[in-house]
Amino acid sequence: MKIIKSIAELKGELNANKGSLGLVPTMGALHIGHQSLFKKAREDNDFLAISLFVNPSQFGPDEDFDKYPRNINKDLDILNSDNVDLVFMPDIQEMYPSGFLTNVVVDKLADVYEGLHRKGHFNGVSTVVTKLFNVFKPDRAYFGAKDAQQCAIIKRLNIDLNLGVDVIICPTVREDSGLALSSRNGYLNIDQMEAGLLISRGLFKSKELFDSGEKNIVNLCKVARNIIESNSLCQIDYLDIVNCETFDLQTDLDQNSIMIVAVRIRNIRLIDNIEIK
Ligand code: AMP
Repeated sequence: MKIIKSIAELKGELNANKGSLGLVPTMGALHIGHQSLFKKAREDNDFLAISLFVNPSQFGPDEDFDKYPRNINKDLDILNSDNVDLVFMPDIQEMYPSGFLTNVVVDKLADVYEGLHRKGHFNGVSTVVTKLFNVFKPDRAYFGAKDAQQCAIIKRLNIDLNLGVDVIICPTVREDSGLALSSRNGYLNIDQMEAGLLISRGLFKSKELFDSGEKNIVNLCKVARNIIESNSLCQIDYLDIVNCETFDLQTDLDQNSIMIVAVRIRNIRLIDNIEIK
């Protein structure tokens, strides 16, 4: 596996590769959720590249950029064992050299839900993903459904800016308990973990009710909300059923309906979602 830190060197490597290229952007602290993306990308492509970059521009001033989990050696072991061809690990200067001024802003989609609670977050995500797409020019890029709004934004910018990448969304990988895997789960103590389990439990219960005939959006949301709020550690930032492409609130359920939720457990923020179809 090649470890590459500069864009110039990366371009040289990519030019030498003639097969199809799959890219999985990550911020490291890799877990089985990330590995499910690597596996799918490995199956689909001749050449598999991973980027590992904790992107400062997607963290707000009060967020966890400094203490975001970083474990390069463990990550490299995982990447090696997953048959990755190349890992791109730029430093901040390489991605944002002095004089950097440009921001990619996906209007409207970036302002609601996560965007409302994490000002500027999606501009950081959109900008770094656009840069990665421009540098790698991958045939396919892989993202996790767990970050549903991020998926909608990346699909949108890829179309709007004619980037021509096949954006592939992979299912959320969960613990046996239902908790969606996340690099931030490591922040949870035992009590907080117990509270966190209620998030997926609430989503699953709503889906179960939907499958057994309940089609009333207010009722479906109420059921999930009650389960999550049964633990006083859980503070819901939002819980709604929206269109997974536009993030407009839905009044009627259809093929694009997803229930999205963000919960604060003390200062740890967890997000999750489930298809309601
Ligand atoms: P991150 O390193 O958190 O930026 O995540 C890198 C990619 O992995 C993103 O596309 C995430 O949506 C995806 N991802 C994170 N957690 C999971 C999970 N539990 N299941 C599937 N994909 C995930």
